[in-house]
Amino acid sequence: MQVLQNRINSFSSKPKRKQGKSHNIKWPHPEYFTATPVTLAEAGFYYDPSPEDVDNVTCYMCGKELSEWAEDDDPFDIHFKKCGKKCAWAVVRCGLRSDMDQKNKFVFTDKNRLPTSKPMEKARLETFTYDGWQYDSVKNHSASSREMARAGFVYSPVEVGDDLATCLYCGVSLSGWEPDDDPTEEHRKRVKSSGIPCPMFPDIVISKSYKDTTVPTKIHDGEEDEDEAPARAGSSTSKTPRSSHAKSTAKTPRSRARSSSKSRKATGEEERRGGGGGGGCRTRR
Ligand SMILES: [Zn+2]
Ligand SMILES: [Zn+2]
Repeated sequence: MQVLQNRINSFSSKPKRKQGKSHNIKWPHPEYFTATPVTLAEAGFYYDPSPEDVDNVTCYMCGKELSEWAEDDDPFDIHFKKCGKKCAWAVVRCGLRSDMDQKNKFVFTDKNRLPTSKPMEKARLETFTYDGWQYDSVKNHSASSREMARAGFVYSPVEVGDDLATCLYCGVSLSGWEPDDDPTEEHRKRVKSSGIPCPMFPDIVISKSYKDTTVPTKIHDGEEDEDEAPARAGSSTSKTPRSSHAKSTAKTPRSRARSSSKSRKATGEEERRGGGGGGGCRTRR
């Protein structure tokens, strides 16, 4: 369930667990809910229902279970609020919105959320070590989990066992890592060549032309922040991993993005709820 698409698919495939009689259960909520299969999957959840909890989802990383979703419940906000201290996915992915201002610009009001901060680096590292990063067992491989995390990447496989890593800030996605690849340098190069700014590299000056063309990360419906910036960035850079690594190009970056477009709304929602509450949906554990 570390693969996004597998989590999305879990909502349409037949659930097969939980007391063996969930065969007729399917995701009960309409598409206009903020929590859709895609937004939930992006936020780390897969569908994990039982006859008693037909809309129960579970986080692939921390195991958090949530059910009883209400229309405006936002999976990102709720996951971050409930698990932002312990779940690496909640930290790196679901917390992105808290790093941005109204204009989708990264502001990082919390220093522990700075891209280069130790807590963020540690959370990124966990996305690699959660299930084992293949190059950690290769002696002297430059793209170790530690270096990948330090470079700003999180593990974001599109297929089980692939080596696709993504910077959630700028959307650069790269795979086909070779022993002498320096992840930080690879990331830096992509940011420079794409002209898409990345807060991992505030020193890289982005030309005006970029700003003119991209500022409005509004391909979607203009409400979402953290999804859009990375997402659209991803679409422009991610497919061009190192030219020398032909195989990597195959990894089309995820279709992430369009997911949580209703999130802004949920922000207010969140406040109403008051800290840690988690809104309408219910925690199972
Ligand atoms: Zn989690
Ligand atoms: Zn980046």
